Amino acid sequence: MTDFPAGILRLALPVNLRRLFDYLPPQQVTADQLQPGVRVRVPFGRGNREVVGILIETSTHSEVPSGKLRPASEIIDSTPIVPESVFQLACWTARYYHHPIGDTFMQALPALLRQGYDLSKEVHEFWQPASSLDTTAEQTLMRTRAPKQQEAWALIKKHPDGISGEALRSMGFDRTLLKNLHQRGLTECVERAPGFQMFHENTPLLKSSPLVLNQEQAQALDAITCDQKFSTTLLHGVTGSGKTEVYLQAIAHVLAQKKQALVMIPEIGLTPQTMNRFQERFNVPVVVLHSGLTDRERLNGWLAARRGEAGIVIATRSGIFTPLHTPGIIIVDEEHDLSYKQQDSVRYSARDLALYRGQLENIPVVLGSATPSMETLHNSDTHRYRYLHLQGRAGKAVPPKISLIDTRHQSLQGGLTPDTLSAIKATLDKGQQVLVFLNRRGYAPTLACDDCGWLIDCPNCDAHLTLHRTPLHLHCHHCDYQQGIPYTCPNCQSPELSPVGQGTERTEEILEEMFGHGRHKVDVMRIDRDSMRKKHAFHEMVEKIHKGNPAILVGTQMLAKGHHFPAVTLVVIVNADAGFFSSDFRGAEKTGQLILQVAGRAGRAEHPGHVLIQTGNPEHPQLQTLIQQGYDSFARNILHERQIIGLPPFSYMALINAEAPNAQPVEEFLQVSAQQARELINVNNLGGPEGVVLLGPMPAPMEKRQGRMRWQLLLQANNRKPLHNLLSVLLPVMEQNPLTRRIRWSVDIDPQEM
Ligand code: ADP
Ligand code: ZN
Ligand code: ZN
Repeated sequence: MTDFPAGILRLALPVNLRRLFDYLPPQQVTADQLQPGVRVRVPFGRGNREVVGILIETSTHSEVPSGKLRPASEIIDSTPIVPESVFQLACWTARYYHHPIGDTFMQALPALLRQGYDLSKEVHEFWQPASSLDTTAEQTLMRTRAPKQQEAWALIKKHPDGISGEALRSMGFDRTLLKNLHQRGLTECVERAPGFQMFHENTPLLKSSPLVLNQEQAQALDAITCDQKFSTTLLHGVTGSGKTEVYLQAIAHVLAQKKQALVMIPEIGLTPQTMNRFQERFNVPVVVLHSGLTDRERLNGWLAARRGEAGIVIATRSGIFTPLHTPGIIIVDEEHDLSYKQQDSVRYSARDLALYRGQLENIPVVLGSATPSMETLHNSDTHRYRYLHLQGRAGKAVPPKISLIDTRHQSLQGGLTPDTLSAIKATLDKGQQVLVFLNRRGYAPTLACDDCGWLIDCPNCDAHLTLHRTPLHLHCHHCDYQQGIPYTCPNCQSPELSPVGQGTERTEEILEEMFGHGRHKVDVMRIDRDSMRKKHAFHEMVEKIHKGNPAILVGTQMLAKGHHFPAVTLVVIVNADAGFFSSDFRGAEKTGQLILQVAGRAGRAEHPGHVLIQTGNPEHPQLQTLIQQGYDSFARNILHERQIIGLPPFSYMALINAEAPNAQPVEEFLQVSAQQARELINVNNLGGPEGVVLLGPMPAPMEKRQGRMRWQLLLQANNRKPLHNLLSVLLPVMEQNPLTRRIRWSVDIDPQEM
């Protein structure tokens, strides 16, 4: 160990090792430039390669011999790139998920900042009233039918110091509109360094008035807004019970105190809708952060949040790391949704990080769901969270009626029973819309030989190929492998190959034949990933659906999430209950949530809704409980079972995954790791009834995927502590295994899919 009175930089670098890297400070750097959280450019490895890292801490000594320490090339930032809370959040994420800290920090930053983009060069355009304002121009604008321009002008006029273009755009005023105002001689654009601008000072906060809350909503709002400090609330309410209205009014409180709201949502698909609802309510910039943005757009939004200019930040998963100038509340909508869990690299749960972030910022966190996860329900049962329930539907809507339809001994058309088809017909006759939910895209789940029973499989995966009609081909949904249709069976040369089972294309085809022509002539629209490839397709369809003419929508999960289709009164769920038989212990939970989510699409306006669930297992006890007693009883039963067999949330899991083109090194690596784990459990006394149990190694549920053989080793314990203590000593040992050069491996803390 060598001492360095001048200081050593300890950096998180974007490499896959669970450690920090020591560097000497660059020449002529003063101590106040060395604040944790600044980005540092350093040489790395051989040649002239440089990487960008984050300064985690400084130290006066290093384990590295002094001759081997290299100086950093440059301190990029003059102040930390993220506030202390986000810095702590990223450090905690790396620790809790046992992931390399450098990679964790890089995931937390927008791509441009990761690449070292220098923020000190940023200038922003600001729009302000023209210095030689032409009053006739203003009169002309007022006479013109250009409401959006008038609105923007009214706003700019109130801000003699200018409003940043970023803020204006996030309020829905685009570049063309701003140029138009400029051409009219009303405004001018100046460039200057962005400064803090909390925006709504000169304008009323609300653009439209809030709804009058019902009693349950009012109680929920009171409870949420009475805290100024950290608290966690579960807002449980069926779809349409008015949760979003509660969020909006809670956010109004926060904005009135000149603080910001962070709203987490699960999917990009929902952002335009959510965005509209917030923009229609408030006169503040709303920033959206999701993976569909360009790097520049993402950085702009991120900066607006950091400067405090964005009153509301709506974000998908990685947005939980967005810096906020003056945070006031965090809302996690659809908290049970699996897309909050990152499935590669650092496998964090944005929902769980939201709770830790709330503690760090000392602000309230609200988790909302119609079907809360078992983890969240358990936390609310044990009084770690406040529980608020919205039991009715807001407004005029009444809850839908749910019936089971037995598919056994029925002749199906397009996967639908005669009873289902007549219910569809009756609904269309009343001039209403039908939604048919099917969890499989494509024409049919596979192709089979009528003579020998052979099924067509993916060469890269343990999975069948899905048959698609438009365009005609076979497709693997796990690895994207595609091929043409064989003319004969590769096994027995028979030409008799036929589709097996139902996909959305096939159901669409049959419904189109039955209802798309003749007397009915209704629109049959398919909404799945394939039909939505074109960017505007979804938007166009949603508009068509909103016209309210009789129509049938056939679709996958995409239809189930959040969308409001007021004219849909009949929802048909085709075999969604298959998930009750999944090998994953979360299968039942996820299936129940999905069924209710889809069911929630029925009858949202004044017409009562009806939900038909087609099933080959109508007596299934979990399905019966769900339908007859509702989600609460269903969830209580699941929790009870999990408690008896000691599954999460009554125990904690970590899953070590390994994969390679051959199974041999993968299995061997996990065998060695399991042996190492057993030794470490003994040495450190981490076994026993509260200690860690090993399961496996065993092949993953789909052993072969994308041409790689996948195995796993499961670690489980009734307490978090021994599990995490074991991982802290086990993972560094595993990293040293020479087999790691031949395989890929990862660790998944609190795995959600197994
Ligand atoms: P959720 O987020 O729980 O699905 P929303 O907040 O979207 O529910 O409310 C569902 C519908 O009911 C929306 O159209 C909303 O405008 C309306 N709504 C919500 N609260 C009220 C209320 N207090 N009075 C009247 N209508 C309401
Ligand atoms: Zn055959
Ligand atoms: Zn495949």
